[in-house]
Amino acid sequence: MTPPSRTARKPTPAECSVCKGTGEVPITVRVGRKRRPVGQQNGYCLTCLGTGYASTD
Ligand SMILES: [Zn+2]
Repeated sequence: MTPPSRTARKPTPAECSVCKGTGEVPITVRVGRKRRPVGQQNGYCLTCLGTGYASTD
């Protein structure tokens, strides 16, 4: 008899679906009055507040 290998300890926090668990999201950088996009940079993920995990509250 083999015991079940699944260990049910703490529930793993769900990965944030927006930043894929990185806590950062690409943000389009715009400049000028025409708001011309000049590129992207990493920004703080507002969905998970940079934790990388989806809030379960
Ligand atoms: Zn996130």
